[in-house]
Amino acid sequence: MTEIRYSAAAIPTSPAVWLDRRGDAAVIIIDNPPVNASSAAVRQGLMAALRQVGAEASCVVVAGAGRTFIVGSDIKEFGKALPPPELPEVLAAIEACPVPVIAAIHGAALGGGYELALACDWRIAAPGATVGLPEVGLGMIPGAGGTQRLPRLVGLPRGIEIIASSRRVPASEALELGMIDALAGEDLVGDAIAFLAGRGKRLAARLTPPPAGPDEIEAAAAAALARGRGRECVKEAIAAVRLIETTPVEEALRLERAAFQRLRVGEEATALRYNFFAERAAAKPPVADAPRSIGSAGVVGAGTMGAGIAAVLLAAGLPVTLVDSDAAALDRARQAIGSTLADLERLGKLAGSSAAERLSGLDSGPEVERLGGADLVIEAVFEDMEIKTGVISRLGDVLKDGAILATNTSYLDIEALAAASGRPENFLGLHFFAPVPRMKLLEIVQCEATAAPVLATAFALAKRIGKLPVLARPGEGFIGNRIYARYRAQCEYALDDGALPQEIDAAATGLGFAMGLFAVSDISGLDIAWRLRRSKAASRDPRERYVTLPDAVCELGRLGRKTNAGWYDYDDKGGPRPSDVVTGLVRANAARHGRPAPDARTIADAILGAIVNEAALIVEEGIARSAEDIDVVLTNGYGFSKSRGGPLFQAALMENRRVEAMVELAANRAGWGFRRGDVAALLAPLRDRD
Ligand code: NAD
Repeated sequence: MTEIRYSAAAIPTSPAVWLDRRGDAAVIIIDNPPVNASSAAVRQGLMAALRQVGAEASCVVVAGAGRTFIVGSDIKEFGKALPPPELPEVLAAIEACPVPVIAAIHGAALGGGYELALACDWRIAAPGATVGLPEVGLGMIPGAGGTQRLPRLVGLPRGIEIIASSRRVPASEALELGMIDALAGEDLVGDAIAFLAGRGKRLAARLTPPPAGPDEIEAAAAAALARGRGRECVKEAIAAVRLIETTPVEEALRLERAAFQRLRVGEEATALRYNFFAERAAAKPPVADAPRSIGSAGVVGAGTMGAGIAAVLLAAGLPVTLVDSDAAALDRARQAIGSTLADLERLGKLAGSSAAERLSGLDSGPEVERLGGADLVIEAVFEDMEIKTGVISRLGDVLKDGAILATNTSYLDIEALAAASGRPENFLGLHFFAPVPRMKLLEIVQCEATAAPVLATAFALAKRIGKLPVLARPGEGFIGNRIYARYRAQCEYALDDGALPQEIDAAATGLGFAMGLFAVSDISGLDIAWRLRRSKAASRDPRERYVTLPDAVCELGRLGRKTNAGWYDYDDKGGPRPSDVVTGLVRANAARHGRPAPDARTIADAILGAIVNEAALIVEEGIARSAEDIDVVLTNGYGFSKSRGGPLFQAALMENRRVEAMVELAANRAGWGFRRGDVAALLAPLRDRD
């Protein structure tokens, strides 16, 4: 792996930039660990170094110290006024440098880092490097010339695609496209200097872009807008690139900067930054203990979840033993795992290995004894206390000393399962979400006796298999399902009072959910919850507000998409479409109660009020650590839009009086049994952020 060091003769020009020499070349090295973000000290140091590079230097190489070039701007500076000099000023100084300047890229050159490389005359990269402009992914656009310089190198259609998708481009593709000019060998800086032989200055900002017809540009813009679902930053990015067609470059750079400044303090960028920090905090292990090494894993239960879990473990290169008492289930699981691995291979997510190679790591059979050598076993059998207790206590006997045993239970008493394992210190919950290969979220449930190294191992495993962990403590439904139950209840109360599924779903998507509850339920199927309701009917408290419409819909044989009828109608051409049958049921039910149907605002307020209130209780009870963690759960496991931050981020934007009123509304609609949480205390840390 390329690693850049500077010589003993190098001199600092700021705490984060060094000026070195190689022969008669000047080498400017940015040293701002961990990722050489282009923060104020870097910008100041670069200006000073460029001033000091005298006319005696034949050329200038800009490189990053350590293992990477510049991985973007300093995200902590984004929400504030930027200390001078701002990046465009530094880039103008690079362009004005009298001798050729080359960016020598290893690791990654992203965002402001790649914009800096674009302002250099040339770019050379180590083979494993990646380059890109990920600003749109953070709700912004490149603000230091990226929209003007990149398309002049790669053409407007490709420029729009790369900027709007915020994708990282590997060095080999970057070379093909013209994003870099050469690939280096072992000596990046030496190769950069050699590359400049016979080459002079070549400012990207002065180039005429490779030709592209208006149709091609329109098509790229339309595709980007469709992918970006009309987000403002995507529109602005396209508009900025298209300034190249109409506007002199100095004026276009000014307009680009103005759009960047506007967007970076806007709601979407603020929300996405909040997500970024919340996810980083959530994924940080809560203990300093070293994780145990996991060389092999086991999964018991080869159903929907077990097959998905086995697939992601195999994809990460772990050999997996899959056990199920039902041979047909094992056959189905093998098929499903094979196709998941093939999909991941197609997406380039198997790190160079093939799906067939990864699948060869799978062993399966009916006997639990096969798991005796596994370092970690995840139980995913039926959600039934008696069955789970039996399987877990058997596993407790079979597993080797020190092996970790985890359950994927959603609702059962996890402390009782820990006790049944006979190894409570090596026991915890790993609550995955369906479909496992797609859903990033993993709730890690720490039981009373879970040992610290076991917890550390779970966090390390989450990272290894590409999941985003959130710490939870035992409690029915942990974090996500418990909040979702309150959300579901409010949707049902609205239905009971005469609002139609499509109206309630519209209120939920207006809040930020990707789909409404009823549309999602139709996809999952309505029968599982129906069965559950019937099994609990005898123990239900009669004072609880119980909405009968979901049962009435099921009784008509409307079980969701699989029967082409549920809350909505479906046919071969698709759906969902509002259903006359359901409308009739809802209207007749509301007429019986004689309550007025709630309007869209009331529905949305009650939903958000219920979510915030339950979140407050969950944090008070110590089941989740923070409001941020809860937003991470809802954005990564329940389809709440990251561009909106999360429901608690949204609530924190409102005055507390309004939030309290929403909770009051939710409480009134729920009636008996509604417990109040301290929402002001929950949201205070979010409101205090700078
Ligand atoms: P499933 O019904 O699809 O699969 C369960 C599998 O367990 C079946 O193949 C069955 O043959 C096997 N099994 C049952 N008893 C067994 C035994 N004694 N020994 C070995 N194998 C046995 O269930 P699922 O949807 O995959 O759910 C599994 C677990 O995951 C449940 O605890 C569930 O609550 C939890 N979970 C499910 C979801 C979801 O969306 N489906 C999400 C999160 C967690």
